[in-house]
Amino acid sequence: MPRVIALIPAAGAGTRFGGDKLLADLRGQPVLRRTASAFAHHPAIDAIVVVAGAGATGQIRDALGGLPKVEAVVPGGASRQESVGIGLFALGGEADDWVLVHDGARPLVTPDILDRCLDGAQKNGNAVAAVPVSDTLKAADDAQTVTRTVGRDGLWAVQTPQCFRLQTLFDAHVAARDSGFGGTDEAGLVERLEPVHLVLGALDNLKITRPEDLALAETILRGRAPMGHTRIGFGYDIHRFAAGRRLVLGGVEIPAPQGLDGHSDADVLLHAVCDALLGAAGLPDIGQLYPNTDPALSGISSLRLLADVFARLQSTGLGIINVDATVIAEAPKIGPFVPLMRDAISRVLHLDPSRIGLKATTNEGLGALGAGLGIAAHAVASLTEKE
Ligand code: MG
Repeated sequence: MPRVIALIPAAGAGTRFGGDKLLADLRGQPVLRRTASAFAHHPAIDAIVVVAGAGATGQIRDALGGLPKVEAVVPGGASRQESVGIGLFALGGEADDWVLVHDGARPLVTPDILDRCLDGAQKNGNAVAAVPVSDTLKAADDAQTVTRTVGRDGLWAVQTPQCFRLQTLFDAHVAARDSGFGGTDEAGLVERLEPVHLVLGALDNLKITRPEDLALAETILRGRAPMGHTRIGFGYDIHRFAAGRRLVLGGVEIPAPQGLDGHSDADVLLHAVCDALLGAAGLPDIGQLYPNTDPALSGISSLRLLADVFARLQSTGLGIINVDATVIAEAPKIGPFVPLMRDAISRVLHLDPSRIGLKATTNEGLGALGAGLGIAAHAVASLTEKE
């Protein structure tokens, strides 16, 4: 079985970038590591050889540290062509091995593109990723005056990977060197020996050339990031009635002959919601965070506790998807106050009211709640891990 080897030239001076673009940070990883990683994690790739700038071999080895399949990092030559030639010598493969040459500065290459290159090469003997030109092309002189319009029909913008048999690529490099021919890509050298076939690359398989390309690459990567995992939390609370207290539910004072007993305002609904949110986040529960022995919390509005819970979620990078709760009370009637409660919760959690479910039910006269001794609340919350 011929092996499939990725050969990544990474010796560019980065003059248009103003620094070493290959080591620049792209969403937490050096550009070159992202590039090599795309090959390392593709099942068809057997080995990766990276050709580094002469003085940068150590830095590049560090940037690639721990990536599987990286067999060699070798110092390159004065030009890209020379560097690829050096890399070919360093491969140590067989004549019919496949070599995918890929720019170190194209970190957004996808498994799809690698698949198309490998399939195309199997079918036609080689394959070069490219995209049809969609912009109108003009030639201009030094004063930027148009000298002619170039028909774009049949024109493609060529990218990498470019996949060839090892022997073919080797022969093409030797032939180019012997005749003093310089090409800007491998296809340019191989075209002199055999027909070269194009497969579809992708517009977002972009080459980092200028600093603004890095910002664009970040935007593209952000768009590709999968939605964070969803977390579910559950909360339950119950408070007994006590004479001489206000009844506060969901942050709203409800006219009633008596309120609920508790250290805070005893808002049983908000306590259940707090615990659902804290539970989903894996944080300590409301009893641990706001102990009923803390004099500072005596009589406090539970909306303030909810606001604190929200701040804690923010600092752990969790976003609320929705909250749903049920209040169990024989009396008073809670239904008329539900819209006000939803508004109050919505404001504190910065959550659209459509994402807040609130229901009230009785306990059908059963048990302590049915006897009207207190009020209970159940709540669930779902959170998403923001990336
Ligand atoms: Mg409570």
